[in-house]
Amino acid sequence: MLMPTGKNGRHAEIAGAGFAGLTAATALARMGWTVRVHESGTELREQGAGIVLWHNSLKVLEAIGALDAVMEDSMTPPFYETRMHHESVSREDFGGLFWRTATRPHLYKSLLGAAQNAGVELVTGSKVVGASPQGLLTLASGQTLEADLVVGADGVRSQVRDSIGFEQERWKSRDGITRFLVPRLKEELGEGEWDNVIDFWNLEPRYLRVLYVPCNERELYIALGAPRADEQGSRTPIDLDLWTSAYPELAPVLRAAANAPDPKYYGYQTTVLEKWSQGRVALVGDAAHAMCPALAQGAGCAMQNAYTMAVAATESSLGDLPDALVEWDRLEHPITDRCQRRSADYAANRGMSQGNQFTQENLETAQYDPTDPGRHAMIGAQP
Ligand SMILES: Cc1cc2nc3c(=O)[nH]c(=O)nc-3n(C[C@H](O)[C@H](O)[C@H](O)COP(=O)(O)OP(=O)(O)OC[C@H]3O[C@@H](n4cnc5c(N)ncnc54)[C@H](O)[C@@H]3O)c2cc1C
Repeated sequence: MLMPTGKNGRHAEIAGAGFAGLTAATALARMGWTVRVHESGTELREQGAGIVLWHNSLKVLEAIGALDAVMEDSMTPPFYETRMHHESVSREDFGGLFWRTATRPHLYKSLLGAAQNAGVELVTGSKVVGASPQGLLTLASGQTLEADLVVGADGVRSQVRDSIGFEQERWKSRDGITRFLVPRLKEELGEGEWDNVIDFWNLEPRYLRVLYVPCNERELYIALGAPRADEQGSRTPIDLDLWTSAYPELAPVLRAAANAPDPKYYGYQTTVLEKWSQGRVALVGDAAHAMCPALAQGAGCAMQNAYTMAVAATESSLGDLPDALVEWDRLEHPITDRCQRRSADYAANRGMSQGNQFTQENLETAQYDPTDPGRHAMIGAQP
């Protein structure tokens, strides 16, 4: 089959239409590439609940033409509050840093709209089974496609990554979470600062946590955390008596969560790769660096690295593209590594429960600007 080529004569094939794949696709298409995205699912949609978006991902969304749509139905809560055993231990406002909360379906719709506007070709029901560093992508249908750039954005169980044999370390943490999108129910909740993000922790008599994240005036994201080994705490549908006895102040929204269809408990996973590229293949998102959600940066890093990879691939000559990907990896990998390591440490020691954990060091990724050509000097990387 003849390879299609864009305004700049280049073509990319991408596995996975999640946040990482759509960001890479939109960025490349806007820079003149023809781009085809293969999504194994039969529909283009994000099923998750809510998300916290920091300055780093918001800058990327702006650069790829998706920010206005995101802003239309998202919010900046006044404070990020932490409560331990029902006592408020901190209220952080990040000193004017740009951050938003949104529902995942809304973020997905905004990214999808930007991809479609940029002319990205999206193919559903198209499962990728492998790739090769020469720039080949193989589908379950048996078809092999050729590209100047192949992107593995196919999530934590990436076929692109595993078919090539990238060196990797993967593990699951002891804790996990069940996520819900429910109505805000502010009146039923009664008096309180219910526009804040509130991270509710109980460590005694057992570890049960509720992350409360308002996403707009109508929708609330709540994530119920419990250890994997706690059969009752991690049970789905949730054990309403257990959760309302731990958090009576949240009873109305917990009742709504108990009635939500198809809940799924998710154990935190970490994937660490030595390298994110081989030849003409680049890995982005959870395929490259799945991380624990303590700093709420998994999708943020996914979008950041998808965007910077697209810029690096576009700025290089075609012949030098493999080297440009190696250089992109060298420059961008360390900041994501640090974020991933901090997130894994927090998952291990449950240290976010102490409050005031969004220190300057921990906000390093949030403050990063992937669209700023001078960004590496600011974090001490040598271009
Ligand atoms: C509890 C929890 C809370 C989180 N909260 C936040 C937060 O607040 N902020 C934040 O930034 N991040 C957060 N994250 C992380 C974030 O959700 C992920 O890092 C992000 O969604 C990863 O995006 P992705 O596109 O790489 O992968 P995915 O979302 O997994 O997308 C991969 C896509 O590829 C498709 N696919 C898979 N295999 C194939 C194949 N073989 N062929 C074709 N298509 C395929 C899948 O169907 C899917 O559409 C959180 C994660 C968890 C678990």
